[in-house]
Amino acid sequence: MAAKTKIIKRRGESLPEKVYLIEVFKGMGVTLGHFLRNLRDNSRLYVRHYPEQKPEITPRWRGRHRLTTYEDGSIKCVACFMCQTACPSRCIMIEAGERLDGREEKMPVRFDIDLLECIYCGYCVEACPKDAIRMDTGIFSVVDHNRESMVIGLEELAATPGVFSEEEYTKGGI
Ligand code: SF4
Ligand code: SF4
Repeated sequence: MAAKTKIIKRRGESLPEKVYLIEVFKGMGVTLGHFLRNLRDNSRLYVRHYPEQKPEITPRWRGRHRLTTYEDGSIKCVACFMCQTACPSRCIMIEAGERLDGREEKMPVRFDIDLLECIYCGYCVEACPKDAIRMDTGIFSVVDHNRESMVIGLEELAATPGVFSEEEYTKGGI
């Protein structure tokens, strides 16, 4: 018995379909419809109106680094080089010096992070035995006009505050 074959008419064979103009105008109509609707009310758009609307940041989110300090302002870092060793991008440069506040033996006299090389992996935070480096500043927009400015140093790192309370960070931080 011969197999039944259903012949389906090929689409796009007629002249108006071949010149595509009707389809082009149909497409433009859809686009225009969306444009006008969003012009009237853009609340249904799945986009964030950055920079007016900032993203929500949780304690696990990794932003620009900071060096944590004691209540008297002296930094917790003991220049052990663990973070520098753990960094896969080799973008941390530390120079150790003698510590005179009696807390530990050493402290960094230079602590630079090249933010252009950093991949924000958080390994430095995890490697630190003193909880001296964190990425909880909430700073996500790191831009400048030249390469040199993208290297942040000890003073800037120690002066930047965290945006979460100690409790929030302890519960949810990396
Ligand atoms: S976040 Fe990663 S790449 Fe950046 S400084 Fe820390 S260890 Fe290095
Ligand atoms: S930030 Fe932490 S890991 Fe890095 S040198 Fe200081 S104490 Fe060591």
